[in-house]
Amino acid sequence: MLKMFPKTHITIAAAITVVVTSAILMSPSSDVEAKRMSYELDLEQGASAKIVSQQKNTTTTDTGQAAQPTSPETSGVTAPNIANPSTPQEPLLSWQTFEIKSGDTLSSLFKEAGFNDGIMLSVIHGEGEAKKVQHLYAGETIRFATDDAGELAAVELQRNRLETLKIEKQEGSFTGDTEIRTPEPRPAFASGVIDGSLYLAAREAGLNDRLTMELAGIFGWEIDFVYDVRKGDRFEVVYEELYLDGEKFGTGRILSARFVNRGEENVALLYTDSKGDSDYYSPNGKSMRKAFLRTPINARVSSPFNLQRRHPVLDVVRPHEGTDYGAPPGTPIKAAGSGRVRFAGWKGGYGRTVILQHGDNITTLYAHMSRLGKGIKKGTRVKQGETIGYVGSSGMVTGPHLHYEFRLNGTPRNSRTVKLPDAKPVPSSEMATFKGVTEQRLAQFEVFRENYQQLALAPKK
Ligand SMILES: [Zn+2]
Repeated sequence: MLKMFPKTHITIAAAITVVVTSAILMSPSSDVEAKRMSYELDLEQGASAKIVSQQKNTTTTDTGQAAQPTSPETSGVTAPNIANPSTPQEPLLSWQTFEIKSGDTLSSLFKEAGFNDGIMLSVIHGEGEAKKVQHLYAGETIRFATDDAGELAAVELQRNRLETLKIEKQEGSFTGDTEIRTPEPRPAFASGVIDGSLYLAAREAGLNDRLTMELAGIFGWEIDFVYDVRKGDRFEVVYEELYLDGEKFGTGRILSARFVNRGEENVALLYTDSKGDSDYYSPNGKSMRKAFLRTPINARVSSPFNLQRRHPVLDVVRPHEGTDYGAPPGTPIKAAGSGRVRFAGWKGGYGRTVILQHGDNITTLYAHMSRLGKGIKKGTRVKQGETIGYVGSSGMVTGPHLHYEFRLNGTPRNSRTVKLPDAKPVPSSEMATFKGVTEQRLAQFEVFRENYQQLALAPKK
């Protein structure tokens, strides 16, 4: 009998790349993105602010900003005075904006804005989060406000379109605060039929790479997108489009998805439980995930599970009770499932090894590591997807690889084909709430699908 394991957050191994991509998405650093943000901010700067824009960068400016009346391409352009009659008592501030390039220092930027190191230090040593201004990255935008007496009144460091560190002078000293904006999510729909690969069909349907990988991640526990996908397979996705100031900013989460693989329908719905953990479930409340990752590493199989194998070093028939994954030394190895470290250390021919205990009857083993993951020792609790060590060539090996074993009641099983237990379903105490959410999501799906089909049937102009 296979046991259930407590589910973690959405720590899907397949989603790790997704996280990386979304991190990039959340911190746009390209010239275009950075420029666009600085002009929007200029326009937001209400209160009769006189804007002096000193664009240092001379790359092509984003032409999407039709609202900007003056050409911002040249250096030292003075933007129009945006007067706001409702707050006439505000002091007149003049702003200078710099786009941070590699090689810029806080000192050089202050100097360029006309302020010496003494003033810079009074900002750094200010209250709250003021000291964070020292951490500058290329692509960010820094703005200096000067009051009518010619003194520094405020510094704003815009990290990206969502995050700005605002430092203001109040009663003679500076105080810093980070302002985080939340984009507004609006549901959107995409649908496609696979001809070549999911990737191509998804791109044609207008999904970006991050959403495509997320879609593959949601169904990846059941469907192998390399081997199982057939021509004619279909998908439909309702996802969030994010808007900032009425302008499309990016994409958010997948809310619901349907994938028809070889005639078989799979539906996944996003549900956030009472503890605040979000995950994907089938309409009957079953988790889309498994309690175990099929593969604990992003690498190809170099030697399969084979109980009749001739050993490569000893040259005798010696069962290969695990699967080998060839990977460069240092590649992270993930815990296939949540559990407890039963062994961590040197184990004969296995070299540096970690054995995890999952419930009563399943153990997983990871051998030939170069080193153990941080804090991994006997008794440590680990979560699925957590790094427990790194690929190496310790023990009896011919080259660096991970040797991975999956044992059920002590008997080695082929980790690539063994039936894996599901992750925890929606708890029965939350079933009523879940059903409510599910009905809404499914109804939303239907509305989108109908509109989409009507659109597709409508004669093209
Ligand atoms: Zn092996």
